[in-house]
Amino acid sequence: MKILTFDIEDWFHILHKYPDDILDRWENYEVRIHNGMDRIFKVLLDNDIKATFFVLGYIARKHPEIIKKIHTLGFEVAAHSDMHKVAYLQSRAEFKEDLSNCIYSIEDIIAEKVVSYRAPGFSIKQQNIWAFEVLKELGIEYDSSIFPAVREDGGFENFSENRPSIVQYNGTSIKEFPMSVNTFMGNKFTVTGGGYFRFFPYRLIKKIVQKSHYTMTYFHPRDFDPKQPMLDDLSLKRKFKSYYNLESSYIKLKQLIYDFDFIDMREAANKIDWNNVPVVSLEDSSKQQ
Ligand SMILES: [Zn+2]
Repeated sequence: MKILTFDIEDWFHILHKYPDDILDRWENYEVRIHNGMDRIFKVLLDNDIKATFFVLGYIARKHPEIIKKIHTLGFEVAAHSDMHKVAYLQSRAEFKEDLSNCIYSIEDIIAEKVVSYRAPGFSIKQQNIWAFEVLKELGIEYDSSIFPAVREDGGFENFSENRPSIVQYNGTSIKEFPMSVNTFMGNKFTVTGGGYFRFFPYRLIKKIVQKSHYTMTYFHPRDFDPKQPMLDDLSLKRKFKSYYNLESSYIKLKQLIYDFDFIDMREAANKIDWNNVPVVSLEDSSKQQ
């Protein structure tokens, strides 16, 4: 099973510190999201395939025409938070308010219930597993926030399953599509999104995807916009991760989509026999102590 998803945000929505004037800063940056969106729409339409789009509430309010187009073309519109804040740095109330704003902004445009979610930077981890209860309270049925490896901004290192699973926490359960990871010399990483997708040659990515029983992807409009400016308050490491080899990434995406049969999360959810997937019970470690 290979699932195609995009996180819909502009070039400046890279996770970094969020000062109080973040909204003013955002309003002053050049809008470039359409460059990447046009390329994404083209490759999907050319190949007649579907994808799930995790959208920021901020983008839904600022560029409703993008959300309308995603929906009109028959693609799934899902939630990616309102303001792209790291989930584990928020209180439960802040998290709920932010996600409600996102869902409301999207549903206002598409007039349909939003049922899928991905946290910014895969930022649901052990310390904020209560987030799953909030997702359920807001009508989310499918989550793709778990990155089962160590990661700078998120990462659920101990999550045992590298395939769709049911996550149970405190009496609620959510159908989980974790990010797919591969192991090399003891390190877990993913090649179908982020820095490694840009860094690795396509033939290596293809080989890894061929061997994987489950592939989840995460791409952004900015991944396919090599002329974007560079945020100047990022660390060197972050700059490398965010901007390296952007020139080739659209070619790689086209090859990937050409070589493999991708489906969106909605179709994947329908295909899966959910009675037959692993059930992962998450315990609140802070309560046990
Ligand atoms: Zn994001």
